[in-house]
Amino acid sequence: MEKVRCRFAPSPTGKMHVGNLRSALYEFLIAKHDGGTFMLRIEDTDQERYVEGAVDIINSTLAKAGIVHDEGPDKDGGVGPYVQSERMKTGIYMKYAKELIDKGEAYYCFCDKERLDSLKTEVVEGKEITLYDKHCLSLSKEEVEANLKADKPFVIRQNNPQTGTTTFHDELYGDITVENAELDDMILIKSDGYPTYNFANVVDDHTMNITHVVRGNEYLSSAPKYTRLYEAFGWEVPVYVHLPLITDENHKKLAKRSGHSSFEDLINRGFLSEAVVNYIALLGWSPENNQEIFSLDELIKEFDYHRISKSPAVFDIVKLKWMNGEYIKAMDFEKFYEMALPYIKKALSREFDYRKIAEMVKTRIEVFPDISDLIGFFDTLPEYDTAMYTHKKMKTTEESSLQVLKDVLPMLEAQEDYSNDALYQLLLTYVSDKGVKNGYVMWPVRTAVSGLQMTPAGATEIMEILGKEESLIRIRKGIALLENNLGL
Ligand code: GLU
Repeated sequence: MEKVRCRFAPSPTGKMHVGNLRSALYEFLIAKHDGGTFMLRIEDTDQERYVEGAVDIINSTLAKAGIVHDEGPDKDGGVGPYVQSERMKTGIYMKYAKELIDKGEAYYCFCDKERLDSLKTEVVEGKEITLYDKHCLSLSKEEVEANLKADKPFVIRQNNPQTGTTTFHDELYGDITVENAELDDMILIKSDGYPTYNFANVVDDHTMNITHVVRGNEYLSSAPKYTRLYEAFGWEVPVYVHLPLITDENHKKLAKRSGHSSFEDLINRGFLSEAVVNYIALLGWSPENNQEIFSLDELIKEFDYHRISKSPAVFDIVKLKWMNGEYIKAMDFEKFYEMALPYIKKALSREFDYRKIAEMVKTRIEVFPDISDLIGFFDTLPEYDTAMYTHKKMKTTEESSLQVLKDVLPMLEAQEDYSNDALYQLLLTYVSDKGVKNGYVMWPVRTAVSGLQMTPAGATEIMEILGKEESLIRIRKGIALLENNLGL
């Protein structure tokens, strides 16, 4: 059997959309699952859409995502160049376009803008397209020669038949047949001499020995025209896998304004690249069992493209957050600490034991920016309502809380060792002296030192981080607030 060769062929037009990253990942997984080759090809023939720096974004995204290519602009595998603008300089596209002209499968078109504008337009999939009327197909050889000699601007168009049908096969959609009359004579070579993406992808996939092509299903409507090109050349059509659309929660195409449509956006929002890759793998594909957390190696092992679904995949940011939280929990502490530290420092204006804080939040966040909400109370005690001291389950009231705080204050003032353990033992002696439940004491103390109903840690862990001075200030403040509220 032929060795699997897959390619990721991005156009350098800006950030890496999650849909593009998914294509890259699936191509990579299909290749690696079979011990094949994964290739990177830069499709930069559309000069109008070219964005400076976009190639760097492609490279850095793939590197961060662990999607490593075996061949590409920086790794020659013998079928280069791997950048279309460089391939163009070798004359490859013009050579093949001329071959099609000789075969009667393509023709020169000299129509100017005015004439093209006068042609009927049709709306196909929301886009207005002009079905070219084959006007220039009737030019004689001599007329064409004369026009070329006179340097008249031209494009080269595919010559699609007006009768019959074309059938192609997609691994997910099965056989698809279309009427040839619906196929427009698309441009293969533009007036600037560049090939269109539509032409270059076919020439390149063939000449670079690509066996599997994975792309978004917005390309399904072009696939019959590509198939006709392959057939015209007498080339074998690659295996096609057209991926389902990725939508937002409202089932609309995932748009830039969602703020999380690109890899860059997600990383900037504090997601881990491993979690993003794991999540994206599941946007359309599912394993046989219910496993959700996959390392890249596990994905390579498990990935079977036949299990990709045709139904649109919903990008669920809540699910991604959950997944990210799982990755954070499983992370090596030192690595976590290094990544969390900037967020911790940003949330705090004074020095604290940052490592202790990091240990405290590691299992409690889903994304790194969650840290600031979680630990802001260390920095400044929030304004709080004394009603918070009343807790039904802990059997506490404002009065009981006031009593507890007043009782423990001198104990805490006398205490030198402010480690969590020592403080906990200290409060436990009070608990047993009074014969009450732990919560009866811990709840008011925690409320006083945090000002919050929910905290990332217990009363004594919080006091350990706050230190003696600040802990006492907060306990005294709690006493004052309660006395004030109770009219004492
Ligand atoms: N250059 C195309 C894009 O970025 C690639 C589509 C394909 O994979 O063939 O959309």
